[in-house]
Order: sequence, then C-alpha cells, then structure tokens
Amino acid sequence: MRIALIAHDKKKDSIIKLAIKYKDVLQKHELFATGTTGTLIMGETGLNIIRMKSGPLGGDQQIGSMVAEGKLDLIIFLRDPLTAQPHEPDVSALLRLCDVQNIPLATNKKSAEIMLRALDDNIFPTDL
Ligand code: PGA
Repeated sequence: MRIALIAHDKKKDSIIKLAIKYKDVLQKHELFATGTTGTLIMGETGLNIIRMKSGPLGGDQQIGSMVAEGKLDLIIFLRDPLTAQPHEPDVSALLRLCDVQNIPLATNKKSAEIMLRALDDNIFPTDL
C-alpha cells in the first residue's frame, strides 16, 4: 500500500507518536509525506519516507495530485482544526480529492489508529 502522512504543526507530536507506535505496520508499506512531517518522522523512527515539498509550499497539492492519479491508497492527515492555515485551500482540495477517488482518509489520531490496525489485520476493504 502507498500511504501518505501529513500533520499540521500542532499535530506533529501526535503523528510522530503514531509513527513510533505503528512503525512495524508502516515499514511494510511505501510511505510518502509532506516535507516537514516526513523529515520529523524519519528522524524519530528511521522509517524510509519519500518527501514532497512542505505543505504550505505546495506539498499538499503534490499529495493531491498523487491521489488524482491513483498513486496513493491511504492518507493520514492529522489536521489542526483550531488554527487558521495559510494553505487552507490546498488542504480542502486534498480532502475533496480523497472523496472523489474514494481514498481512505484519517484526519485524527483515533481514525488513523483504526485504519492502521485494519491494515495490520489485513482487513482493509477492497472496492465494492
Ligand atoms: P509540513 O506540511 O509537513 O511540511 O509541515 C504539512 C501541512 O501543513 O500541510
């Protein structure tokens, strides 16, 4: 599976904790991330991650483009719902494309954990 990891600044700690907890699961997959998120996770876990540009500099759009092209299977995007983001239009576009393409998208920790456990248990849904 091709998995993208993204976290807004106030959620960086959470995504690092998530990546540490699920390192065994994540390392079996092809990982992508926006720039800063990817750098931090790689530094803390040693996971191999293909990094896009930083989110505010176009990284979310790069991930969105991969979604549009059918090149991603799962997105974990820990959003900060309490802080205005300068690149909110890019974030909305990415979330929209996930729904257009029916790509599983977790926007908070517990949703992400459920998805990673499903992945680990090999009970990820196939197309209807
Ligand atoms: P970052 O981007 O990983 O480069 O911080 C995430 C975002 O804010 O979209």
